[in-house]
Amino acid sequence: MATYRQTLRNAVNVCLQAGINEMLARRLMLELTEQHHLNLYLVDDEEIDVKILAEFEQGIKRLCNHEPLAHILGYEWFFGRKFLVSKDVLVPREETEELIGHILSDIDELFGQGELDCADIGTGSGALAITLKAEEPRCRVWASDISEEALDIAKKNAKELECDVTFHQGDMAQPLIDAQIKLDICISNPPYIKKSEIVERSVVDFEPHVALFGGADGLDLYRKLLDQAPLLMKERSMMAFEMGFDQQEALREEVVLRFPHSRVEFKKDINGKDRMCFVYFNC
Ligand code: GLN
Repeated sequence: MATYRQTLRNAVNVCLQAGINEMLARRLMLELTEQHHLNLYLVDDEEIDVKILAEFEQGIKRLCNHEPLAHILGYEWFFGRKFLVSKDVLVPREETEELIGHILSDIDELFGQGELDCADIGTGSGALAITLKAEEPRCRVWASDISEEALDIAKKNAKELECDVTFHQGDMAQPLIDAQIKLDICISNPPYIKKSEIVERSVVDFEPHVALFGGADGLDLYRKLLDQAPLLMKERSMMAFEMGFDQQEALREEVVLRFPHSRVEFKKDINGKDRMCFVYFNC
């Protein structure tokens, strides 16, 4: 029988040969062992638990088939919380954690005390909406998605994490507009990949295209949401978007075209790539 250390070492080699990032094998082992309340470094030289070995070997096969680790585990961590994921939702990304971080500091800076009306448009797993509610309970949070299957996952996450978020099915903000909801804060990580862009296999073969691709220039869903904004946003309010690293100029044009007097700001992610766009109306 093999030890944890030997098992992991073999798997790293298998991954390297298959052109898969070896860190994924390490993360898989950590997640599987933590799940069983083991500290990997303490048990490194012990014989691997047979059940963990079976799950790990199965997982490595799937990793080598380019499947995302989050699909193998059935969850991904986001802002310190565990979110259920499936093939019907985009796996929450680290970049998107940065977006919520900036929104939380804007809330402190720009909005006083009291309740705030907020929405996450195209919520997917619910990661943004639920994190906002968990971190700022004074926010009333709505979330929409066009996909019923995604909403099923988001609702499960909200229940599991005990966050009160109201979900609506529909096209971007339309269900909120129909319900005459007016927002202080509108968040969205819409699909923004250009039709022509070459995307990693683990993404394009496994994640929902409705959550990834935003038309010829990747900006179709921003245009739709910006067009909906006058009916959706309070006079003093803000919008916060995730975006592609090369979309700053094009997205700025779309915003300025519709809201020439609003303040528009862009922020980079931890990798130094343009990643977030903030539009402030009268604040
Ligand atoms: N960041 C994702 C990726 O590049 C795309 C997310 C999105 O389109 N909203 O895989």
